[in-house]
Amino acid sequence: MPDTRIHVPYITSWSTETPVIPTVIRHPNGVGIAYADETMGDRDRSGILWVRVPSTPGTGRPLFGKVHSLRQRRAMRRLLCQVCGEPADQAPDGVLWLLLDHRADWPGWPNRMGVTEPPICRPCAELSVHACPALRDGYALVRAQVYDIAGVQGMRYRPGNTGVAAVDLAMVAHSDAAAPWVLASNLVRELRDCVIVD
Ligand SMILES: [Zn+2]
Repeated sequence: MPDTRIHVPYITSWSTETPVIPTVIRHPNGVGIAYADETMGDRDRSGILWVRVPSTPGTGRPLFGKVHSLRQRRAMRRLLCQVCGEPADQAPDGVLWLLLDHRADWPGWPNRMGVTEPPICRPCAELSVHACPALRDGYALVRAQVYDIAGVQGMRYRPGNTGVAAVDLAMVAHSDAAAPWVLASNLVRELRDCVIVD
């Protein structure tokens, strides 16, 4: 029987990695959200609150299409390949990204786009375009020379009658006034100085 685990992307969640959602409360200082039982590790360096998720890759079933927040964040921060977890492809003309093809959306796409997909290495890019169902509708291989960490994506909350209430999934910059109200689940980079290479 072939070892199918090597084909499970690094950032894919497994069935044993169900996020634990602790009670979300209004921050004691009144601005934004907090966990009722918050600890030091729940926030990033910018002070944004992150989802809590166990890390047990390889145990249970892979949940294709469901991204594991901690591994997404690690891969994005360190520019690791989203499929194998090794360093992504970096060349003089930029870091390699494999994206769903939306080049009709605006001239110069994907320049200035915020992405939650971490970059990719060359062998995994070639494997993915053949194996990944999500890419059957079209993909673009992109090299970006500028790829600053731009913010986070996650559930946005608002003050409620009692405590706080979830509103919607939002992408916010770290400096955004809404950032203290977001429970982050993905790290976002903004791609610029891009060329499409396929
Ligand atoms: Zn790879």
